[in-house]
Amino acid sequence: QLTERLTGALKTLRGQARLSESNIQDVLREVRIALLEADVALPVVKEFVDTVRREALGQAVLSSLTPGQAFIGVVHQVLTRLMGEQNEGLNLATQPPAVILMAGLQGAGKTTTAGKLAKWLKEQQKKKVLLVSCDIYRPAAIEQLQILSQSIEVDFFPSFAHQAPEEIALAALDHARHHYHDVLIVDTAGRLAIDEAMMQEIQRLHQTIHPVETLFVVDAMQGQDAVNTARAFGEALPLTGIILTKLDGDARGGAALSVRHVTQRPIKFIGVGEKLTGLEAFHPERMASRILGMGDVLSLIEEAQRSVDKTEAEKLAKKLKKGQSFDLEDFKSQLQQMRKAGGIGAMMDKLPAQLSRGLAPGTAAPDDHALRRIEGIINAMTPLERRRPELLKASRKRRIALGSGVQVQEVNRLLAQFEQMQKMMKMLSQGGMTKMMRGMRN
Ligand code: GDP
Ligand code: MG
Repeated sequence: QLTERLTGALKTLRGQARLSESNIQDVLREVRIALLEADVALPVVKEFVDTVRREALGQAVLSSLTPGQAFIGVVHQVLTRLMGEQNEGLNLATQPPAVILMAGLQGAGKTTTAGKLAKWLKEQQKKKVLLVSCDIYRPAAIEQLQILSQSIEVDFFPSFAHQAPEEIALAALDHARHHYHDVLIVDTAGRLAIDEAMMQEIQRLHQTIHPVETLFVVDAMQGQDAVNTARAFGEALPLTGIILTKLDGDARGGAALSVRHVTQRPIKFIGVGEKLTGLEAFHPERMASRILGMGDVLSLIEEAQRSVDKTEAEKLAKKLKKGQSFDLEDFKSQLQQMRKAGGIGAMMDKLPAQLSRGLAPGTAAPDDHALRRIEGIINAMTPLERRRPELLKASRKRRIALGSGVQVQEVNRLLAQFEQMQKMMKMLSQGGMTKMMRGMRN
């Protein structure tokens, strides 16, 4: 499963502050296998992985402070985009009755979905709906639809096994016109596998009744096979949308990506149960989260992130214990930690009360931008200056200001902040350090 795969792959990123071409390669390989296992078709997987690689190697992710999270963000975005960005409802803008043609293999869920749609149109859209079955092959298929329409109290147009499908459909259309139905839903026969006669029959039906919506109904549990079915129906009919059924089961939803890719048509609804209430509008973003198992993945990233912070914190704690003083290098690493922790403001909130009292009152919490500037100034210093800030006299400060593109006052302000932090660290080195770090993370 994608979740497990990604979990494993992201674990390898643990402890690495940055994503690079090489470590991204490993994660992408896992994403690729995972998508294949989630039943996404190979060409779709290829395109997907290429897009993610391209976007993940872009500046935003590589320079992000939480690259793992940023990476998943990219995966999620690309998934969402490939599935259509947003929900597209039914298009019934036509001279009534608007005809909806249901297409798909036997067992896909056409008849059930016809009932669900009728219920939805009646209750949510206040439409007058007529249902008709053109499935003259399967015994009891017509009766199945009749029973459904009775249970939702929607009009049903009777048909008989000796009639031709087009004949049935035309009669139903005529009836709908005369009885002012807003929508006519035409259920059709499917075969267990794609078959030329079936395709020709539904093509003829399509030409006869000119549906405004031709919906391809496909079982999400079909996995890889869904691709071939979708291709065949997409080539035979001008589909207007897709309904993916049986998503209440174990299906990860990878079929959504492939079917969309193969047909280039929007997924409009998903089936989430045998009952007639089991129909939901399709939301690409939610499906992306489902495919990714987003909840699990996000919590993993947070955990990985925490372990990075902890290593840093432990290094610093060790150093302070050995009696070494807190220098500008440490200050910089502290600032980086702060940014990860959500800025100084967030950190201050988490500091034990007696510690934050030790800090100058009214010190404005610098934002992300300010923190970056401070880092820039420290970067302009020589390693010796960072270790021994007392060396920083006027001429050195001018050089640093020039080198980092700021005014000398800003360098002075930074040094004042640093001294404050140094004082605090001295206080903490008497054993409080680890406690503080622990406090910060909760
Ligand atoms: P058709 O041959 O395409 O008309 O398929 P049916 O509508 O007869 O459905 C075939 C089977 O799938 C039936 O047992 C339905 O109850 C079941 N089914 C249809 N849609 C869903 C769904 O969204 N979830 C679940 N769990 N079962 C469904
Ligand atoms: Mg049926």
